[in-house]
Amino acid sequence: MPGLHLVATPIGNLGDITLRGLWILRNADRILCEDTRVTGRLLARYGIAVPLEPYHDHNAERARPGILERLRRGERLALVSDAGTPLVSDPGFKLVREALAESLPVSVAPGPSAAIAALALSGLPPDAFLFAGFLPSRQGPRRRALGTWRSVAATLIFFEAPSRLAASLADMAETLGDRDAAVARELTKRHEEMRRGRLTQLAAHYRAAGAPRGEIVVVVAPPPAGGSAEAEDDAGIERRLRDALAGATLHDAVVRVADETGLARREIYRRALALRAQGRAR
Ligand code: SAM
Repeated sequence: MPGLHLVATPIGNLGDITLRGLWILRNADRILCEDTRVTGRLLARYGIAVPLEPYHDHNAERARPGILERLRRGERLALVSDAGTPLVSDPGFKLVREALAESLPVSVAPGPSAAIAALALSGLPPDAFLFAGFLPSRQGPRRRALGTWRSVAATLIFFEAPSRLAASLADMAETLGDRDAAVARELTKRHEEMRRGRLTQLAAHYRAAGAPRGEIVVVVAPPPAGGSAEAEDDAGIERRLRDALAGATLHDAVVRVADETGLARREIYRRALALRAQGRAR
């Protein structure tokens, strides 16, 4: 089995690794990992003694040529991340792409991912879903990113840091509308918790309770079916624009509504000019 083998590792409970994943790790020449201490603990649990080599955001550019050279020589390399599926908000994409470009063998031993575990437990529609990774940490870019997902007819899945959870939930409510949602915390670990409710309720809870401990996934229901969400959104945007234009310059009103809704300033500007032309705003 020469080649690069992507192996999913547990997201909490160390028992959650597949038998095939363990077999690949045991028989690899070398295991590429984010943090040798984290992966070392997993290997120790299963009595696996294979050399570890760091491959993470800070050394990937430097390390990749040597790794590709070893793959060309026919070595068996496994790639794991600290937890879950490699490449899912974790390192590995460029390595896979470059290996594939040279027709070097790449395989995957699938297993846990926090995104899928949270979706399964959320109680929200699983038939169509969109994993959006981490949102930007600053409010303006975060709302703009949320705006790009607003009309997607699918359940949305986000990773989020505890310190930003309350603010992000509030921005989701503002930008996506007050949808049903679920906050998954510490999945498969001792303090696992799933909190379900409307986005505004969840935002109020975490604003009052303070930043929770541990790791978090937010799952948000799709917009209401039948396109009514878009129509409501249009009415909502018009209302926001009229309010904003009543007390601010055109430029400031456009910036404010773009930040509130996550829509592009160009689009809001176009709508503001249309409102004015129709005499429905100052
Ligand atoms: N590749 C991983 C996967 O497939 O699950 C995700 C890696 S990403 C760097 C780490 C993020 O995943 C955390 O910040 C959190 O949002 C989420 N996460 C990981 N483990 C989790 C858990 N046990 N419970 C809830 N969220 C988790």
